[in-house]
Amino acid sequence: MKIITSIKDQTDYCNSLRKKGESISLIPTMGNLHKGHESLLFDPSYIKNKKIVSLFVNPLQFNNSDDYKNYPKSIDADIEILEKNKVDCLFMPSEDEILGDISESESFDLPEHMNILCGKYRDGHFLGVFKIIKQLFKIVRPTAAYFGKKDYQQLIMINHIAKEYFKNEIKIVACDTIREDNGLAMSSRNNRMTKSQRNIASFVYKKLVVLREIIKTDKNYNFKELQKISIKELSIIGIKIEYLELLSSNNFSVIQKDDTDNLMLFVAFYISGVRLIDNIEV
Ligand code: AMP
Repeated sequence: MKIITSIKDQTDYCNSLRKKGESISLIPTMGNLHKGHESLLFDPSYIKNKKIVSLFVNPLQFNNSDDYKNYPKSIDADIEILEKNKVDCLFMPSEDEILGDISESESFDLPEHMNILCGKYRDGHFLGVFKIIKQLFKIVRPTAAYFGKKDYQQLIMINHIAKEYFKNEIKIVACDTIREDNGLAMSSRNNRMTKSQRNIASFVYKKLVVLREIIKTDKNYNFKELQKISIKELSIIGIKIEYLELLSSNNFSVIQKDDTDNLMLFVAFYISGVRLIDNIEV
């Protein structure tokens, strides 16, 4: 696997691939790879595409400096995982170079609905993700880019970047959420919890599954009431819910009484200071 650390070398490498008629798949990550990241590497289109994984812990997307400082890093293990998965190139740019490459005059027009859910609680988060993903797309100019549905609001924003800034020439592939056996969505942040805390955290997913069942089967469900009870029950076992919402997966609009299509439950929560997110289609 080629390891590239400079923007110029990465641009040259991608140009040389294109000259040879190769297509490029890009998988952006912040490292500390787990099975959720690995699942982004399995798409059948890879048979003909070169796989480029980027690893960059993006300081712009952290609204909390401790969260940024404590973000887990495991570069040697990451390289082993990427090599095992036959990744062609790892792009690991330095913070100074990537941030220095973002021009003051560039436009970063966020799509609608970025000021709710995580956007409401993490000031500047989506703008930070937007800047770096747009930069990575410009450097690599991939044919396809892979993102997890776990970060659903981010996925909607990435679709917007591809449409508005890259004329839909980058195919955005949305990948399902990979979970631990107990249902907890895999996340690099899970490494900051003990086994017993991870087990407690899995009760949030279990709660989402119960809520989904109620919403699907009880025509008279009252979401406000369900929300209140769920937040209370989870708080008893040490989980602090930041938000728990039932919204349309198309445009994040609030669900009306008779809506049954494209419903999605979104949650963000804290357990022992670690912030996690999850969602499920209803
Ligand atoms: P991160 O390293 O957290 O920035 O994540 C890099 C990519 O992996 C993003 O597109 C995430 O949505 C995706 N991802 C993270 N966790 C999971 C998971 N449990 N299942 C599927 N994709 C994931």
